[in-house]
Amino acid sequence: MQRRKLLTLTPAALAAAQQAPQPVKPPQAPAPAKPSNYRTSPIGYSDTPVLPGQPWKVHDIARPRPAVVTPGPRPGDPPSDAVVLFNGRDLSAWTSSKGPARWKVENGYVECVGRTGDLISREKFGDAQYHIEWSAPALIDGDSQWRGNSGVLIMGRYEIQVLDSWDNPTYADGQAGAIYGQWPPLVNPCRRPGEWNVYDIFWQAPKFEANKLVKPAYVTVVFNGVLVHHHQEVTGPMAHRAVRQYAPHAPEEPLALQDHDTRPRYRNIWVRRLKPYDQR
Ligand code: MG
Repeated sequence: MQRRKLLTLTPAALAAAQQAPQPVKPPQAPAPAKPSNYRTSPIGYSDTPVLPGQPWKVHDIARPRPAVVTPGPRPGDPPSDAVVLFNGRDLSAWTSSKGPARWKVENGYVECVGRTGDLISREKFGDAQYHIEWSAPALIDGDSQWRGNSGVLIMGRYEIQVLDSWDNPTYADGQAGAIYGQWPPLVNPCRRPGEWNVYDIFWQAPKFEANKLVKPAYVTVVFNGVLVHHHQEVTGPMAHRAVRQYAPHAPEEPLALQDHDTRPRYRNIWVRRLKPYDQR
Protein backbone atom coordinates (compact mmCIF):
# COMPACT_ATOMS: atom_id res chain seq x y z
CA MET A 1 0.00 0.00 0.00
CA GLN A 2 2.72 2.41 1.10
CA ARG A 3 4.94 1.46 -1.84
CA ARG A 4 2.24 2.13 -4.31
CA LYS A 5 1.68 5.60 -2.86
CA LEU A 6 5.40 6.52 -3.13
CA LEU A 7 5.48 5.51 -6.77
CA THR A 8 2.82 8.07 -7.54
CA LEU A 9 4.92 11.01 -6.19
CA THR A 10 6.66 13.40 -8.60
CA PRO A 11 10.50 13.58 -8.28
CA ALA A 12 10.29 17.04 -6.61
CA ALA A 13 7.73 15.84 -4.13
CA LEU A 14 9.81 12.75 -3.44
CA ALA A 15 12.90 14.90 -2.72
CA ALA A 16 10.88 17.09 -0.39
CA ALA A 17 9.53 14.03 1.41
CA GLN A 18 13.05 12.68 1.90
CA GLN A 19 14.43 15.93 3.41
CA ALA A 20 15.31 15.91 7.06
CA PRO A 21 12.42 17.15 9.10
CA GLN A 22 12.76 20.81 10.06
CA PRO A 23 12.94 21.54 13.77
CA VAL A 24 9.78 22.96 15.08
CA LYS A 25 10.26 26.28 16.77
CA PRO A 26 8.74 26.38 20.19
CA PRO A 27 6.14 29.07 20.53
CA GLN A 28 7.59 32.41 21.65
CA ALA A 29 7.07 33.05 25.30
CA PRO A 30 4.90 36.09 25.70
CA ALA A 31 6.61 39.19 27.11
CA PRO A 32 6.21 39.18 30.86
CA ALA A 33 3.39 41.32 31.97
CA LYS A 34 4.39 44.58 33.57
CA PRO A 35 3.75 44.50 37.28
CA SER A 36 1.00 46.69 38.55
CA ASN A 37 3.55 48.94 40.30
CA TYR A 38 5.72 49.41 37.12
CA ARG A 39 6.97 53.01 36.90
CA THR A 40 8.29 55.10 33.99
CA SER A 41 10.58 58.13 33.85
CA PRO A 42 11.86 60.35 31.01
CA ILE A 43 14.96 59.08 29.17
CA GLY A 44 16.30 62.65 29.08
CA TYR A 45 15.42 66.31 29.09
CA SER A 46 15.84 69.29 26.78
CA ASP A 47 14.46 72.03 29.01
CA THR A 48 17.17 71.93 31.68
CA PRO A 49 20.04 74.37 32.33
CA VAL A 50 23.38 74.06 30.53
CA LEU A 51 26.10 72.52 32.68
CA PRO A 52 28.94 74.92 33.56
CA GLY A 53 31.94 74.31 31.32
CA GLN A 54 30.12 71.74 29.19
CA PRO A 55 28.12 71.93 25.97
CA TRP A 56 25.41 69.72 27.47
CA LYS A 57 22.32 70.42 29.50
CA VAL A 58 21.62 68.64 32.78
CA HIS A 59 20.32 65.13 31.89
CA ASP A 60 20.56 66.13 28.20
CA ILE A 61 18.47 63.77 26.05
CA ALA A 62 20.82 64.40 23.10
CA ARG A 63 24.01 63.55 24.97
CA PRO A 64 25.74 60.44 23.54
CA ARG A 65 25.44 57.43 25.81
CA PRO A 66 28.71 55.77 26.94
CA ALA A 67 29.96 52.90 24.79
CA VAL A 68 28.99 49.48 26.05
CA VAL A 69 31.97 47.48 27.33
CA THR A 70 31.70 43.85 28.36
CA PRO A 71 33.68 43.25 31.53
CA GLY A 72 35.91 40.20 31.83
CA PRO A 73 34.30 37.10 33.32
CA ARG A 74 36.31 37.41 36.55
CA PRO A 75 37.70 40.45 38.37
CA GLY A 76 41.01 41.38 36.75
CA ASP A 77 40.20 39.78 33.39
CA PRO A 78 40.49 42.11 30.38
CA PRO A 79 37.24 43.80 29.36
CA SER A 80 36.09 43.81 25.73
CA ASP A 81 37.83 47.09 24.83
CA ALA A 82 41.23 46.22 26.32
CA VAL A 83 44.47 45.80 24.39
CA VAL A 84 45.91 42.57 25.79
CA LEU A 85 49.69 42.89 25.92
CA PHE A 86 50.37 39.55 27.62
CA ASN A 87 47.93 36.69 27.96
CA GLY A 88 50.32 34.13 29.36
CA ARG A 89 51.35 32.61 26.05
CA ASP A 90 53.81 34.70 24.05
CA LEU A 91 55.60 38.04 23.71
CA SER A 92 54.19 38.93 20.29
CA ALA A 93 53.02 42.31 21.62
CA TRP A 94 56.54 43.21 22.73
CA THR A 95 59.99 44.03 21.57
CA SER A 96 62.85 45.10 23.84
CA SER A 97 65.41 47.81 24.33
CA LYS A 98 67.99 45.27 23.10
CA GLY A 99 66.23 43.87 20.05
CA PRO A 100 63.70 41.00 20.13
CA ALA A 101 62.01 40.35 23.48
CA ARG A 102 63.90 37.55 25.25
CA TRP A 103 62.24 37.34 28.67
CA LYS A 104 61.19 33.75 29.49
CA VAL A 105 57.55 32.75 29.02
CA GLU A 106 56.37 29.72 31.01
CA ASN A 107 53.38 28.59 33.06
CA GLY A 108 51.30 31.61 32.06
CA TYR A 109 53.79 34.24 33.18
CA VAL A 110 56.85 35.99 31.75
CA GLU A 111 60.01 36.20 33.81
CA CYS A 112 62.76 38.75 33.44
CA VAL A 113 65.97 36.82 32.93
CA GLY A 114 68.27 39.79 33.43
CA ARG A 115 70.37 41.89 31.09
CA THR A 116 68.21 41.23 28.04
CA GLY A 117 66.68 44.72 28.03
CA ASP A 118 63.43 46.34 29.06
CA LEU A 119 60.33 44.86 27.45
CA ILE A 120 58.74 47.51 25.22
CA SER A 121 55.17 47.25 23.95
CA ARG A 122 54.69 47.50 20.20
CA GLU A 123 51.56 49.61 20.70
CA LYS A 124 51.69 53.11 22.13
CA PHE A 125 49.40 54.70 24.67
CA GLY A 126 48.55 58.14 26.06
CA ASP A 127 45.79 58.47 28.65
CA ALA A 128 45.21 54.88 29.70
CA GLN A 129 44.20 52.32 32.29
CA TYR A 130 46.81 49.63 32.91
CA HIS A 131 46.28 46.27 34.61
CA ILE A 132 49.52 44.50 35.51
CA GLU A 133 50.18 41.54 37.81
CA TRP A 134 53.67 40.82 39.11
CA SER A 135 55.54 38.79 41.67
CA ALA A 136 59.00 39.14 43.15
CA PRO A 137 61.28 36.09 43.40
CA ALA A 138 60.44 33.78 46.30
CA LEU A 139 64.15 33.35 47.01
CA ILE A 140 65.52 36.57 48.49
CA ASP A 141 69.01 36.91 47.00
CA GLY A 142 69.73 40.56 47.82
CA ASP A 143 68.57 43.46 49.92
CA SER A 144 66.98 46.90 49.50
CA GLN A 145 66.78 47.68 45.78
CA TRP A 146 68.05 44.22 44.74
CA ARG A 147 64.88 42.45 45.87
CA GLY A 148 63.19 41.78 42.53
CA ASN A 149 63.59 45.35 41.30
CA SER A 150 61.70 46.10 38.12
CA GLY A 151 59.22 48.76 37.17
CA VAL A 152 56.22 49.72 35.13
CA LEU A 153 57.62 52.44 32.89
CA ILE A 154 54.59 54.30 31.63
CA MET A 155 55.26 55.99 28.30
CA GLY A 156 58.67 54.34 28.63
CA ARG A 157 59.91 56.81 31.25
CA TYR A 158 57.56 57.44 34.22
CA GLU A 159 58.15 54.60 36.70
CA ILE A 160 55.74 52.94 39.07
CA GLN A 161 58.23 50.90 41.05
CA VAL A 162 58.09 47.11 41.19
CA LEU A 163 60.05 45.71 44.14
CA ASP A 164 59.67 43.07 46.82
CA SER A 165 58.59 45.46 49.57
CA TRP A 166 57.63 42.77 52.11
CA ASP A 167 59.62 43.66 55.24
CA ASN A 168 62.19 45.48 53.11
CA PRO A 169 63.60 48.62 54.76
CA THR A 170 64.53 50.44 51.58
CA TYR A 171 63.95 54.14 50.94
CA ALA A 172 60.30 55.23 50.84
CA ASP A 173 60.20 56.60 47.30
CA GLY A 174 61.74 53.37 46.00
CA GLN A 175 59.17 50.96 47.47
CA ALA A 176 56.70 48.99 45.41
CA GLY A 177 54.00 51.32 44.16
CA ALA A 178 56.19 54.42 44.49
CA ILE A 179 56.41 56.94 41.72
CA TYR A 180 60.10 56.15 41.75
CA GLY A 181 62.24 58.86 43.24
CA GLN A 182 59.26 61.19 43.77
CA TRP A 183 56.35 59.93 45.84
CA PRO A 184 56.11 56.90 48.14
CA PRO A 185 52.85 54.95 48.02
CA LEU A 186 50.30 56.14 50.61
CA VAL A 187 50.60 52.72 52.29
CA ASN A 188 52.48 49.47 51.66
CA PRO A 189 50.10 46.61 50.71
CA CYS A 190 52.82 44.41 49.15
CA ARG A 191 52.37 40.65 49.42
CA ARG A 192 55.10 38.20 50.41
CA PRO A 193 57.82 37.36 47.86
CA GLY A 194 56.62 34.77 45.38
CA GLU A 195 52.97 35.85 45.74
CA TRP A 196 51.14 37.77 43.02
CA ASN A 197 50.52 41.50 43.31
CA VAL A 198 48.14 43.55 41.18
CA TYR A 199 48.53 47.10 39.89
CA ASP A 200 45.65 49.03 38.38
CA ILE A 201 47.09 52.30 37.11
CA PHE A 202 45.06 55.23 35.76
CA TRP A 203 47.24 57.57 33.75
CA GLN A 204 46.74 61.07 32.44
CA ALA A 205 49.58 61.83 30.06
CA PRO A 206 51.51 65.10 30.20
CA LYS A 207 50.75 67.68 27.53
CA PHE A 208 53.34 69.60 25.57
CA GLU A 209 52.82 72.54 23.29
CA ALA A 210 55.59 74.06 21.21
CA ASN A 211 58.03 71.78 23.06
CA LYS A 212 56.95 73.16 26.44
CA LEU A 213 55.13 71.36 29.22
CA VAL A 214 51.62 72.80 29.60
CA LYS A 215 50.18 70.08 31.85
CA PRO A 216 52.07 67.50 33.93
CA ALA A 217 51.10 63.83 34.13
CA TYR A 218 48.75 62.65 36.87
CA VAL A 219 48.45 59.12 38.12
CA THR A 220 46.13 57.09 40.30
CA VAL A 221 47.37 53.68 41.44
CA VAL A 222 45.46 50.87 43.10
CA PHE A 223 47.83 48.23 44.51
CA ASN A 224 46.24 44.93 45.52
CA GLY A 225 42.91 46.76 45.77
CA VAL A 226 44.39 49.51 47.96
CA LEU A 227 44.63 53.12 46.77
CA VAL A 228 48.28 54.22 46.94
CA HIS A 229 48.22 57.34 44.72
CA HIS A 230 45.18 59.50 44.17
CA HIS A 231 45.47 61.79 41.14
CA GLN A 232 49.08 62.43 42.08
CA GLU A 233 51.08 64.89 40.00
CA VAL A 234 54.17 63.31 38.45
CA THR A 235 57.09 65.72 38.51
CA GLY A 236 59.09 64.23 35.64
CA PRO A 237 60.64 61.05 34.25
CA MET A 238 62.21 58.42 36.49
CA ALA A 239 65.68 59.20 37.79
CA HIS A 240 68.04 57.59 40.32
CA ARG A 241 69.60 60.01 42.85
CA ALA A 242 68.57 62.92 40.67
CA VAL A 243 65.69 65.13 39.62
CA ARG A 244 64.78 65.07 35.96
CA GLN A 245 62.68 67.67 34.24
CA TYR A 246 60.03 66.86 31.69
CA ALA A 247 61.28 66.60 28.13
CA PRO A 248 58.80 66.77 25.24
CA HIS A 249 57.62 63.49 23.75
CA ALA A 250 54.79 62.16 21.62
CA PRO A 251 51.19 62.05 22.92
CA GLU A 252 51.39 58.25 22.82
CA GLU A 253 54.44 56.20 23.81
CA PRO A 254 55.06 52.48 24.47
CA LEU A 255 54.75 50.85 27.87
CA ALA A 256 58.01 49.36 29.14
CA LEU A 257 58.78 46.81 31.85
CA GLN A 258 62.13 47.42 33.44
CA ASP A 259 64.99 44.91 33.30
CA HIS A 260 66.92 45.71 36.49
CA ASP A 261 68.88 42.44 36.32
CA THR A 262 66.58 40.63 38.77
CA ARG A 263 63.95 37.92 38.22
CA PRO A 264 60.45 39.36 38.70
CA ARG A 265 57.49 37.74 36.92
CA TYR A 266 54.55 39.36 35.17
CA ARG A 267 51.19 38.05 33.95
CA ASN A 268 47.78 39.28 32.76
CA ILE A 269 48.84 42.62 31.28
CA TRP A 270 46.24 44.72 29.51
CA VAL A 271 45.61 48.35 28.68
CA ARG A 272 42.54 50.45 27.89
CA ARG A 273 42.88 53.72 26.04
CA LEU A 274 40.91 56.43 27.84
CA LYS A 275 38.84 59.05 26.14
CA PRO A 276 39.86 62.56 27.18
CA TYR A 277 37.63 63.90 29.93
CA ASP A 278 36.33 66.73 27.76
CA GLN A 279 34.99 64.30 25.11
CA ARG A 280 32.37 62.63 27.26
MG1 MG B 1 62.65 49.82 39.32
